[in-house]
Amino acid sequence: MRLAIYPDGAFVVTAPKWYPLYVINKFISEKADWIFEKLKYVDFQELSEKKKTESTRYKSQKEFARVVIKSRVEFFNRFYNFEYNRISIKNQKTCWGSCSRKKNLNFNYKVADLPEELRDYVIVHELCHLRELNHRKKFWGLVEKVAPNYKISRKSLKNIKVSAKGGSASG
Ligand SMILES: [Zn+2]
Repeated sequence: MRLAIYPDGAFVVTAPKWYPLYVINKFISEKADWIFEKLKYVDFQELSEKKKTESTRYKSQKEFARVVIKSRVEFFNRFYNFEYNRISIKNQKTCWGSCSRKKNLNFNYKVADLPEELRDYVIVHELCHLRELNHRKKFWGLVEKVAPNYKISRKSLKNIKVSAKGGSASG
C-alpha cells in the first residue's frame, strides 16, 4: 500500500482492489503521526485565499464569457443548424467544455480568454457533439467543415491547462 499527501492537503491511499477496507483503515491509522506531520506544512490559509480569488474571478467574468460564447455558438450554428437547449457557463477544473445527451452545452468560462482560434475550436467541437456524441470519424468530419485546422488547435489546446491543478481535456 502507498500513501501520498498532495499540496492541497488531500491524502490518497493506493491499494489493490481486493484489499478489505479494514486493512486499509488500519494502515491509515498506523500512519496517522506521519499524516499529521505532513499536514503541518500545508498552508490552508493560502489555499483558501487562492480558492476565493478564483471564485471572485469566475463571478466577475462569467457574464462576459456567456456573451462571447453564446454569440460564437450562434455564429457557427448558422452553418450547422443543430438543436440545443441550454448554454451553461461553468467553472470546471479539468474541462473546457462538454455536451450532454439532453443537448445542453457547457463551457468553462475561461474559454472566452483563449486565443480566438482555440476558443472557436472548443465551441465547434461541442456544437458537433449535438449531432455525434462520440469522437468517431463522422464527428471529426463535422468539425472539419468549419474548423479545417482542428488538428492543430486540438494539439495546442492540450498544452494549455484549464487550471493549475486540473487536466486539459475537452469533452
Ligand atoms: Zn469531445
